[in-house]
Amino acid sequence: MAHEVTLIPGDGTGPELAEATRRVLEATGVGFNWDEQPAGIDIYEAEGSPFPERTLDSIKATKVGIKGPTTTPVGSGFRSVNVLLRKELDLFACIRPCKSYEGVRTRFPETDIVIVRENTEDLYAGIEFERGSADNAKMREFLAQLGSPVREDSGISIKPISEFGSERIVEAAFAYAKENGRSKVTAAHKANIMKFTDGLFLETARTVAARHPEIEFEDRIIDNLCNQLISRPEEYDVIVLPNLYGDIVSDLCAGMIGGLGMASGANIGTEAAVFEATHGSAPKYKGLDRVNPTALMLSGVLMLRHLNEREAADRMENAIAEVIRKGDKVTYDLKLTRDDPTAVGTAAFADAVIEEMNA
Ligand code: NAD
Repeated sequence: MAHEVTLIPGDGTGPELAEATRRVLEATGVGFNWDEQPAGIDIYEAEGSPFPERTLDSIKATKVGIKGPTTTPVGSGFRSVNVLLRKELDLFACIRPCKSYEGVRTRFPETDIVIVRENTEDLYAGIEFERGSADNAKMREFLAQLGSPVREDSGISIKPISEFGSERIVEAAFAYAKENGRSKVTAAHKANIMKFTDGLFLETARTVAARHPEIEFEDRIIDNLCNQLISRPEEYDVIVLPNLYGDIVSDLCAGMIGGLGMASGANIGTEAAVFEATHGSAPKYKGLDRVNPTALMLSGVLMLRHLNEREAADRMENAIAEVIRKGDKVTYDLKLTRDDPTAVGTAAFADAVIEEMNA
């Protein structure tokens, strides 16, 4: 039976990346009924909303979406489509596999790590009090009453971390580990300093870990984790982190595996899942058929696994890996020099992956 999937091409280079990914997904032989829906700056300019209700309704109905990147204007305009999506659908777990493929230039060829980032809490909750505002004054007064005065010229952000949020993200990390043959989960935190937020996260992680004795569990203080990721990445398997550390460490790991063009991702909630690359819309390359579709294609591989199409997922991942290993039909960012005239475009890269799958 064909899978109903919402396809959101996005804007900038999104549509060309989404088209390349759609073609490769179809070439696996798995059946899809695509419901294509808009999001991003183009639909904002046409209709006044970057994330129309019909797009949200479609994902609620299909429960699975694959999304090209979308532009968020800096300083003005509208809120990030991704933030809206995560919030509206409570996509609380961001899963970002970071694996070095042969043929990609990297100092960390042994890397095979999965980042599981909490997506809804922490300093990202957006609870802020602007310096000089009335609410800031009230908050400072409250803090002073509690015996924790802060300077008058301070901006203030609040970091909520709950037992509920920690429990479900750590459970998601263990579930991912079990479903994907992983053997260890590491929880990252700064519980030595932030005892009531990161401390709660760590305490909850330990409780959850005790329910899964077949998977090894350890914890690391976040600064030490960063040091060890660079010095001995092969020791890490699945890493679960609160929102802000997860944001930073997943980009660090993307750098370790050859850059943003390689970094895939999934946003998972209880009711729906949306798959998308880590990178943005790279608008300067829009319409040039230039950028690397690997990150969105590997997000498609994650989607196939989510849909329980594991054999097709393995075939698609192996074909992508083989095209990268051979190195002749790859985009500019995977060549030794960025101006290598033998680099192919987005569509030709997809053709090479399809050819490899059919070989
Ligand atoms: P970006 O990821 O779009 O681009 C940064 C640079 O990375 C590009 O100039 C390009 O050199 C390189 N790059 C990115 N994707 C690549 C690919 N597939 N192949 C080869 N090279 C690639 O980041 P940015 O310029 O900071 O952001 C552009 C827009 O994207 C912003 O509006 C931002 O808000 C948005 N954004 C969207 C998402 C998303 O939709 N998930 C994520 C991040 C940023």
